[in-house]
Amino acid sequence: MDRQQEFVLRTLEERDIRFVRLWFTDVLGTLKSVSVAPAELESAFEEGIGFDGSAIEGFARVYESDMVAMPDPTTFQVFPFEGGMSGESARMFCDITLPDGSPSWADPRHVLRRALSRAAEKGFTFYTHPEIEFFLLESLGERGSLPTPVDTGGYFDHTTHAVARDFRRQAVLALERIGISVEFSHHEVAPGQQEIDLRYADALTTADNIMTFRHVIKEVALSHGVHATFMPKPFTDQPGSGMHTHLSLFEGERNAFHDASDPMKLSKVGQAFIAGLLVHAREYTAITNQWVNSYKRLFPQTLANRITESPAYVCWGHTNRSALVRVPAYGKPNSARVEVRSLDSATNPYLAYAVMLGAGLRGIEQGYELPPGAEDDVWALTDGERRAAGYESLPENLAQAVDVMAGSELVAEVLGEHVFDFFLKNKRTEWEEYRRVVTPFERERYLGIM
Ligand code: GLN
Ligand code: MG
Ligand code: MG
Ligand code: MG
Repeated sequence: MDRQQEFVLRTLEERDIRFVRLWFTDVLGTLKSVSVAPAELESAFEEGIGFDGSAIEGFARVYESDMVAMPDPTTFQVFPFEGGMSGESARMFCDITLPDGSPSWADPRHVLRRALSRAAEKGFTFYTHPEIEFFLLESLGERGSLPTPVDTGGYFDHTTHAVARDFRRQAVLALERIGISVEFSHHEVAPGQQEIDLRYADALTTADNIMTFRHVIKEVALSHGVHATFMPKPFTDQPGSGMHTHLSLFEGERNAFHDASDPMKLSKVGQAFIAGLLVHAREYTAITNQWVNSYKRLFPQTLANRITESPAYVCWGHTNRSALVRVPAYGKPNSARVEVRSLDSATNPYLAYAVMLGAGLRGIEQGYELPPGAEDDVWALTDGERRAAGYESLPENLAQAVDVMAGSELVAEVLGEHVFDFFLKNKRTEWEEYRRVVTPFERERYLGIM
């Protein structure tokens, strides 16, 4: 038993913790949990906990379904507040293996680990920092009906919205208590919409933190008698919930995106990384925006749709918030980073980080040239002007996104064959289920006049 494992066992005993939850994530980004008694943990560290992989979305075919969850003791965390029950619980994330101990190709954590080790071979560590938006709702409403946001607040509003403010304070305290550092939190543009930004960390830690974050936010919301949702676009006439993510590569202690001598202060590595993000953007959008509903958010600002701040075209810019990739101005050299604005709050963070890292590294390896930045409001250009500038559209719906992804050698390589095939098949089914539904829009439009 190693030191970390010993530390876990000792802490459980000292704090009299009766429940240990072992967490992992399925291919679609749903959190899975199995509780073990502390007495079982010693053997769980050695042999893992067996489970039926065929019952987990994207994990295994029935004839090879035995899988093993191996707790990762470095992710051990005591939850001091859970469920309003007395007594503490604790959780650890797991790596999923096959019975012979080899890593499962279906485990999103493994997909990200593999991408990170490719970066490490080139001397890079990958850091990420997410800005997570979500809605607080009075209730989820009757099936399919319109939910009610908890307040009528707007961007950075402070005084009037007591529920949201108390909620954010408690949520931030709860996150800090379990070791997740929060940088900012504020009311977002839409009624009931909140944003909480996590401090940057290595990408695996961040992805684990996002999974924990979603759980904690939902719990804290319930304790206030309200609901939190990470659905990308709950309301037609309000902005959606994005998860802008800031990315950087470090070489040891040095930020590899920084170069003081460049007019943009952006190193060649940084430029090629952005170029990779752009060249492959259409290919990985199905991963960063994986639901039918995601594309209601990734909608250009047009006359019919004035309320959006989400990207719809593949381009980059400095302060330009209509661009897919933004390079924020920064002070300290180590703060050099790029912000990708397409991700939504319902993505699988492990897979999203893996594909974006893969795209950026491809740019570096192949020495992609960074095209000129977009300084205009890209939404306001005509189609012709955008074409002349070379700005392609992001996929307009899940079906397009899946088609582009299906042809991507890069995404296939990063995800591995199993996850790639499962994902495409699952998303084609989702699209088909959606496509066959006759919507209220159609009945309103056509029933009377035809
Ligand atoms: N909600 C917007 C989005 O969907 C972002 C708004 C903002 O943070 N500027 O991306
Ligand atoms: Mg923000
Ligand atoms: Mg925001
Ligand atoms: Mg942002």
